[in-house]
Amino acid sequence: MPELPEVETVRRQIAPVLEGATILRAEILDVRLTRPVEPEFVADSLVGERIATVERRGKYLLWRMASGRTLVVHLRMTGSLRHAPAGSLPADAYRRARVVLDTGAEVGYRDVRRFGTWELLDEGHLHPYLASRLGPEPLAPSFTAARLGRLLEGRRAPVKAFLLDQRRIAGVGNIYADEALWRARIHPRRVAGELGLDEVARLHRAVRAALRRGVELQGSTLRDYATPDGSSGGMQREFHVYGRLGEPCDRCGRPIERIVVAGRGTWFCPHCQAP
Ligand code: ZN
Repeated sequence: MPELPEVETVRRQIAPVLEGATILRAEILDVRLTRPVEPEFVADSLVGERIATVERRGKYLLWRMASGRTLVVHLRMTGSLRHAPAGSLPADAYRRARVVLDTGAEVGYRDVRRFGTWELLDEGHLHPYLASRLGPEPLAPSFTAARLGRLLEGRRAPVKAFLLDQRRIAGVGNIYADEALWRARIHPRRVAGELGLDEVARLHRAVRAALRRGVELQGSTLRDYATPDGSSGGMQREFHVYGRLGEPCDRCGRPIERIVVAGRGTWFCPHCQAP
């Protein structure tokens, strides 16, 4: 699933294509993308909208319209955007939506598993929508170690589950949670609220460093993720633990192990991340 670095990579590539453009035509080919709203209703509403900016919040892409409305796009498991000159997107059995812009470009939305969503929100609805679903942005300057410490306070969940909960911190998923815990040398099953001050400081640095590195490398390409110009990310070549069962730890050389935490496959070094 695309996490913060992958969605930020998509945003950076698609923003120059979308920003300032007006939507001439919109097709939504899958009722699941917009439900319970009818896809034709959303498509009709998009026509004539001028896209002012493309922003990101957590794993959401926000197409902020000049009208004040926002198209909230969540890629979920396998969603991806692709842009091309109008009429030249390759045929794709998994295309779920397409918008044609007045700039001569078109943008296709592909989604194999069909868990992605497009929601068009009126002005005033965006803030409560996001506020009820998302904690702070971990790469924002306001996300300090002290802020993380307050979020962790009293939490009985394993720290891995805490990191995956979008209402605590926005944008971290399975890959970057495991990578951050390895960097911080914290066992994924440690109780979140019981981390010491130095561990909180390490975790704070580690979450930000892992996410920043992911953004620098344009995300990780596993199976379906591709960036909007069709290229691949490079983060998968730098994983320290994720998916590396039995391979030597980059720090101590002992084999990486896999356990299940919060229902998710979890990779860690049992020596560097002792319980
Ligand atoms: Zn190790």
